[in-house]
Amino acid sequence: MSNLKIPIRTCISCREKKEKKLLNRYQCIDKSLSLFSGNGRSFYLCNDCIENKKKCEKALFRQCRNKSNYFEQLKNLVE
Ligand SMILES: [Zn+2]
Repeated sequence: MSNLKIPIRTCISCREKKEKKLLNRYQCIDKSLSLFSGNGRSFYLCNDCIENKKKCEKALFRQCRNKSNYFEQLKNLVE
């Protein structure tokens, strides 16, 4: 009998709930996007949204509360 809870998180872009391990965790500090360091606010993006500028750029602007080249920063983090 398995009763383990699978951690579920929500992608900030498509709002889909997915297993935590299928999501990527980031944070935004002073207009700089980075991988989550373990401290502060963070958010999750799914792999589909990371590939789609239209889908995730608005969500990044909303999370970071300003506009910058977040999609390009995101691409650099993924590669
Ligand atoms: Zn998504």
